[in-house]
Amino acid sequence: MNTEQVDVLVIGAGPAGTVAASIVHQAGFKVEIVEKQLFPRFVIGESLLPRCMEALTEAGFMDAISEKGFQQKAGAKFVKDGKICDYQFADQFTPGWNWTWQVPRADFDKTLADTVEKMGVPVHYETTVTNIVFNGQNSVITVEDKDGNQTEISARFIIDGSGYGRVIPKLFNLDRPSTQIPRKALFVHTVDKKRSMADEPNRITIVVHQPGVWIWIIPFANGITSLGFVGNPEFFKQYEGSDEEILRGLIASQSYFAERFENVEFAFTPRVLESWSATTDKFYGDGFVLTGNVTEFLDPIFSSGVTLATVSSQTAAKLVIRKLNGEAVDWDKEYMQHMMQGVNTFRSYVTSWYEGVLDTIFFADNQDPLVKSQICSVLAGYVWDMDNPYVKNHETALHKLARTITLRDMVATDKS
Ligand code: FAD
Repeated sequence: MNTEQVDVLVIGAGPAGTVAASIVHQAGFKVEIVEKQLFPRFVIGESLLPRCMEALTEAGFMDAISEKGFQQKAGAKFVKDGKICDYQFADQFTPGWNWTWQVPRADFDKTLADTVEKMGVPVHYETTVTNIVFNGQNSVITVEDKDGNQTEISARFIIDGSGYGRVIPKLFNLDRPSTQIPRKALFVHTVDKKRSMADEPNRITIVVHQPGVWIWIIPFANGITSLGFVGNPEFFKQYEGSDEEILRGLIASQSYFAERFENVEFAFTPRVLESWSATTDKFYGDGFVLTGNVTEFLDPIFSSGVTLATVSSQTAAKLVIRKLNGEAVDWDKEYMQHMMQGVNTFRSYVTSWYEGVLDTIFFADNQDPLVKSQICSVLAGYVWDMDNPYVKNHETALHKLARTITLRDMVATDKS
């Protein structure tokens, strides 16, 4: 069997894998990517957050992405019973990017993978990692191509960006059950010919359907709009029929967009994903680091997935470079604790969303502009800014704010 030698082997050519590969490659190391599928390939996760632009910039991807003309996204919009909650990233508290993109991921991920390949990083498509033997700085990875041919790659370091594939956690039994309540999504791409009837036709919108059930509407620049319902699996069980019939019935029942999407052409048969939350004991080990979805994925409500994927890779890649240069790295403090700060901030917001606490805040009258700008920064992905009280005190601040709003409203009702 042939054995190839690289400095860093990256598993997966999604946003996590390509960002990590590019940053390590730019530092002068020999990097290769192995990717199980042939690109373009479908993956969900189409709404980005401004914070990921910093990682994409450091990876050298911005020119290539800009050339694609993806739909720009300047804020977050939530709708409930005719009430609108509008966050504009330009008003956010933390200095940083104030816009990003809404992207069909097949096209976006291929752009990143093609760009890293042009930089000089080989991407081996339709090649699956099947085994790893860790030997500190000289691990051996077995990969298998689509014809069943096996090759060994020897690497000083492995970056696992295999997303839902969870290669290292699965091979070494590091997977742990998530604390998140299982949820299900039913979604499709629509040929959105009646988009112009919406008040803001190209804007991403999150619609509260009923407590615990919400809908994403993500318009792309190519006329396609992604539409998905997310809720407890029990919610979907009350409906009978095929996934398409259930989705069409749900669309017809939502007055906010029923007319726009009535009889709309679906670009593919509706898809279902469920119980996607997963976590692992440790994000690193002797000779490897996990980045992106392999570390922890919570929930799609705040579009945090690609941002956490790219930021974890941006952070990990710089630590890998230091490690390969013979410097000491405190992986627990500099990587795991740092990433968990961001993940746990989003966790508090996800929990508050499903508890209805964020409904009280998002749809309150007379919102305090400073508080709004601080929450806006979290929604933009700036979840490491400890000057922001809605990051620093994420576990308690939202509940306190919601209680204040409720009390204020009760007093106002009493007076009237
Ligand atoms: P991926 O994009 O999954 O890439 C991993 C790659 O690794 C894949 O191409 C795979 O083929 C490859 N691979 C797997 N196993 C192997 C193997 N053995 N060998 C070689 N290669 C392998 N995120 C957002 O930011 N915005 C959203 O709006 C959003 N919406 C979502 C909606 C739903 C319903 C769900 C479930 C998730 C959503 N996400 C969203 C999350 C998003 O899908 C992920 O966070 C994101 O794709 C993670 O990127 P990644 O690079 O870590 O993994």
